[in-house]
Amino acid sequence: MKSLWNDTEAAGYQGDLALRVYTSRLLGREPALVLHGGGNTSVKIRERNILGAEEDLLYVKGSGWDLETIEAAGFPPVRLDHLRALARLPALGDVEMVNELRTHMTIASAPTPSVEAILHAIIPHRYVDHTHADAVIALTNNGAGEARTREVFGDDCVIIPYVMPGFDLARLCAERFAAQANEHTIGMVLLNHGIFSFGATARESYERMIALVSRAEDYLKKHAAWELDFPAQSAPTNAQRQEIAALRLEASRVAGFALLLSCHQDERSLAFARRDDVASIGARGPATPDHVIRTKRVPMIGRNIPQYIAEYKEYFQQHEPNARDRKTMLDPAPRVILDPALGVCTLGRSARDADIVADIYAHTIEVILRAQALGGYQALPASDIFDVEYWDLEQAKLRQAGKPAVFAGEVALVTGTASGIGLACARSLLARGAAVIGLDIAPSIATALKHPAWLGLPCDITDEAALIQALETGVRRFGGLDMLVLNAGMFPPGKRIDALDSATWHKVLTVNLDANLVLMREAHPLLKQAPNGARVVAIGSRNVTAPGPGAAAYSASKAALNQLIRVAALEWGQDGIRVNTVHPDAVFDTGIWTPEVLAARAAHYGLTVEQYKTRNVLRREVESRHVAELVAELCGPLFARTTGAQIPIDGGSDRVI
Ligand code: ZN
Repeated sequence: MKSLWNDTEAAGYQGDLALRVYTSRLLGREPALVLHGGGNTSVKIRERNILGAEEDLLYVKGSGWDLETIEAAGFPPVRLDHLRALARLPALGDVEMVNELRTHMTIASAPTPSVEAILHAIIPHRYVDHTHADAVIALTNNGAGEARTREVFGDDCVIIPYVMPGFDLARLCAERFAAQANEHTIGMVLLNHGIFSFGATARESYERMIALVSRAEDYLKKHAAWELDFPAQSAPTNAQRQEIAALRLEASRVAGFALLLSCHQDERSLAFARRDDVASIGARGPATPDHVIRTKRVPMIGRNIPQYIAEYKEYFQQHEPNARDRKTMLDPAPRVILDPALGVCTLGRSARDADIVADIYAHTIEVILRAQALGGYQALPASDIFDVEYWDLEQAKLRQAGKPAVFAGEVALVTGTASGIGLACARSLLARGAAVIGLDIAPSIATALKHPAWLGLPCDITDEAALIQALETGVRRFGGLDMLVLNAGMFPPGKRIDALDSATWHKVLTVNLDANLVLMREAHPLLKQAPNGARVVAIGSRNVTAPGPGAAAYSASKAALNQLIRVAALEWGQDGIRVNTVHPDAVFDTGIWTPEVLAARAAHYGLTVEQYKTRNVLRREVESRHVAELVAELCGPLFARTTGAQIPIDGGSDRVI
């Protein structure tokens, strides 16, 4: 591992705290050191307070900040003397400890200091860096971990046996550090947890971290435990969407809420999930306590959810026999599933959560295989994992996370999503917590939105095979389908019936009608497996009830779609699928309303473009976002008992009212 320190870059960071920010970001750039909020850093600074007295402050990483992107505001200042006095207490509850941290900050609005703040305080050096480096974990998480750790670090690091993060760990470190540290000591290794480095300057502390982790890497290289061999794999080519949706439904049921499920079918994931010994090495538990909350206790091997849940319940009861009085069981659903056909599946309430689990597990695979090469991967005992999973502080964090978004864990597919109403629908659904698969014939669809829960797929929806492939791709990414918004459509230039050619007629019906039938037919088995019951919304048109001259093909196609939707509402009610239509009119910020079409239609009615845009009872223009909000609400709880409805969104049409 190489130091990323760069003099030119560093010159942009003036002062002790700014340099703390700089080297924290350097650590954050290296995923083999810290992942997604893992790791923490600090600096001790003497400052004059408002009364003119000098005091020592520990600026330590605050919760909710990621080292890669941290700023000065991410380091709450805590009074150092108080932290050191706390470290001398015989015992301190974790909740009380957090209260002490928060009440001894000098900036009231600063984030809550890391639970490892006291540990940083007891180390006398000015700068302290802490990571959960993969190489160090591989070195410590095997049968001879402690001996190997001593062999690698000798006198340079104090070695601490595993204790759960929190006050007891800080106290143990304080004792061991005082007893064992000498002038050579530049670090501290916490078995099955991670590593600390420290120094007089930001650079020294950071570069010691790199040097210490490099030593662990060199040891792994020397013992043929560094290079990983993943045999070539062929990715599954058969349709898997049904079985994926079924697995996701079952996992969501045991969780008690909808979960997304992402299948990772790259060579490494498949090779690991297909190993002969995966049931043995894959199910041994997380690499470091930092990962427990995200990945849960152990991955599920294969797809036997009832067995997995039974084992989880047993594990819970074993460690919490008086559950009624104390802790209640968390949702037992797995967050990682290893399956030879599906690869590594990760689950979460949002795409970001599922992706974080995937990142963590990709690193866990490396740690497991390297520790295997050193004689056998060993995770923490189940009781230690339980203590972290049911840690008061983590439970409090889960409670504080508050109410999830209305569509958390759900997946929507929207057609015609590159612009206009479709794009606005994608935004409204994403804003309510859904993951969104957007289809459009325009290649720009892939980057139409920048959001972790967005998957834009170029697709000609009139191509049946392409549509089915898009469903397959979407389900492998998010696990299923809960909402379907039939939006894609075309509006040809006006032509009276006596001039309407067959090619135009067929094209309009193919896009506006036939493609929706195919999509509905192919989506139905997936919609049936939606954990909360599926919803379909069709974008109809005012033309259904009040057609206009020159728009025969469009009006006929939308009227036929309207009947198709009404029949679907009748047929799919028994599957818990709600099917509704919105009828917009004169929405001009969409792809079909080119300036030419707009000018032509306005001229047709003898109006200016402005008059034409607000030509409704309310005299208000209807925009894509208004339609999108109605579509999203129709999918939500407000309309939980509504199906087969047709709702106008047209500013009021005197031809319809
Ligand atoms: Zn840690």
